[in-house]
Amino acid sequence: MKCIIAGGGIGGLSLALSLHDAGLREVEIHEAAPAVEELGVGINVLPHAVRELAELGLLDELAESGIPTAELAYYSKRGQRIWSEPRGLAAGYRWPQFSIHRGLLLGILHRAVVQRLGAERVHTGHSITGFDQQSGPVLARFADGSRDEGDILVGCDGIHSVVRRAFHPDEGPPQWNGITMWRGVTEGRPFLGGRTMIMAGHFGRRMVVYPISKRHEDEGRALINWVAEFRNAPGRPMPRQDWEHTVRVEEAIEPFASFVFEFLDVPALIRGARAVYQYPMVDRDPLPSWDFGRVTLLGDAAHPMFPVGSNGASQAIIDARVLARELALQPTIEAAVSAYDATRRPPTSAIVRANRQVGPERCMDLVEERAPEGFARLDEVISRQELEEISRAYKHTAGFDPEVLNRRPSLSVP
Ligand SMILES: Cc1cc2nc3c(=O)[nH]c(=O)nc-3n(C[C@H](O)[C@H](O)[C@H](O)COP(=O)(O)OP(=O)(O)OC[C@H]3O[C@@H](n4cnc5c(N)ncnc54)[C@H](O)[C@@H]3O)c2cc1C
Repeated sequence: MKCIIAGGGIGGLSLALSLHDAGLREVEIHEAAPAVEELGVGINVLPHAVRELAELGLLDELAESGIPTAELAYYSKRGQRIWSEPRGLAAGYRWPQFSIHRGLLLGILHRAVVQRLGAERVHTGHSITGFDQQSGPVLARFADGSRDEGDILVGCDGIHSVVRRAFHPDEGPPQWNGITMWRGVTEGRPFLGGRTMIMAGHFGRRMVVYPISKRHEDEGRALINWVAEFRNAPGRPMPRQDWEHTVRVEEAIEPFASFVFEFLDVPALIRGARAVYQYPMVDRDPLPSWDFGRVTLLGDAAHPMFPVGSNGASQAIIDARVLARELALQPTIEAAVSAYDATRRPPTSAIVRANRQVGPERCMDLVEERAPEGFARLDEVISRQELEEISRAYKHTAGFDPEVLNRRPSLSVP
């Protein structure tokens, strides 16, 4: 069985490795970019996805590059602590949570693909433009005029997926919720013990900050990833959807000028970044099906979601493992695609919807609504029980409830 993968991002490369692991060795990856470049800023890989990467033999490399996040803490815009919880191994998972540079994660996956499948399987500069699906094979066409024929085509081509558009030509551009995200990485001193991820503020004016580099940690320093999210004034146009688009540092600092906390000086953090990248917070409505016979979707092409709860890359990795498993075990490709659709579409659609409701970070909004000027005692604003319930409910929806994950059988093909 030959699998054509359109898109060599985290989803596409994870699929290639998962297929190889499942014994399906005929794989061709077509990536639009001229090279697989280690771009982006920080990203979180949650325990449910680290488990899958560990089963693919990549745990040591992740541990050499990323920070095993030990705590997640939410603060108000005044720097008052609302909630904190252990994360990864500290929370009882059998697998860590890693905060890592997206480019390094992509590099780990790419090197493994080259080693295991061969460099000749990765075709860069190959932008898919269309495909024909008849009763048998699928013929994929690329912008440079080349073609590739396979038994299945998987669209891993991100939020602007050409493969998705072929089935939903009228869907239009992704939906913007009015929030602009500025992102960067800054070298600095470790904060809050060096393995804590924090969020401060509330939806619409929120900072997300976490360290991402083991090398820096070993040197007593921190490479700090940050995302500044700010709801634009009504009527302002949507920022460009280009992950590499940079803006002036002052734009990101202005809404967060007052975020100077005992443990972290946010304006100084933003000012210290080498570059500030701007991107709109966008998603798409969940689809009614990803089951298109011998064609399907994976990762952001299938379920682009707001970056709430750190789930985009993690869900793409799990998609890859489930699809590879079904392709190895089901009697036909069509049956495998149907089984994949039935297993992965409902939970990822639920996450897309949960993220629109601000996911686990709702507690920060409740505190802002109830005590915008700050609080003397947190329990007068929000009860412990309410906080625990918000955290528990999201873990359940996103599939990383520790007990469920620790007990779940492996997705590896025996
Ligand atoms: C350059 C870049 C930087 C990013 N930076 C961050 C970040 O810093 N933090 C974060 O949380 N998330 C970031 N993301 C998004 C994050 O990586 C994804 O949400 C997540 O990992 C899902 O992965 P994916 O493989 O499904 O999609 P993507 O990561 O979007 O990968 C899609 C891949 O398909 C390729 N592609 C697109 N169109 C075509 C086509 N027509 N034919 C062939 N290939 C095509 C793209 O070049 C890309 O390599 C970034 C994405 C990109 C592309």
